[in-house]
Amino acid sequence: MSDYLFNEPRYTDPDAARDYLESVRWPRGPVCPHCGAVDRISKLNGSAHRAGLYDCGHCRDQFTVTVGTVFERSKISLDKWLLAAALMAASKKGISSKQVERMLGVTYKTAWFMTHRLREAMKDSGGMFSPGGGTIEADSTYVGGKEKNKHASKRKAGNIGGMGKTMVFSLIQR
Ligand SMILES: [Zn+2]
Repeated sequence: MSDYLFNEPRYTDPDAARDYLESVRWPRGPVCPHCGAVDRISKLNGSAHRAGLYDCGHCRDQFTVTVGTVFERSKISLDKWLLAAALMAASKKGISSKQVERMLGVTYKTAWFMTHRLREAMKDSGGMFSPGGGTIEADSTYVGGKEKNKHASKRKAGNIGGMGKTMVFSLIQR
């Protein structure tokens, strides 16, 4: 496993991680997960709000990019989630909770929870999300599965350090 692949900001910085997820999940801009609106959505800035919070002018509900994903309502920061997922995706033999504990600097309990949840999510992307959610406006290149079908060594390394966008997409789609 090459550590240098995991030095990208999205693996070390929660804001960069969220920006990245937003760019993958919402290639054409934010989509309200509650009513499906794509317009009249405003970003809530300022210290009074959680980072990455949006307000929908149609249903007046608020949301972040993690609503409806395996990352929703987690106290673990997004960069750690992305790193754990990338490590798992890059490891042919799979990665143990012990390794995740060490590499992320989290407790064993947290590491176990993360690997368990990610493994479930990767096992069957159709079964991990709450049913009945909206669809994702995704670029067809993300869902075509072309990267997924390639041997790991032939995948584009620049994609996400061992984790292709297809995989990220499977972690965030509903
Ligand atoms: Zn809405």
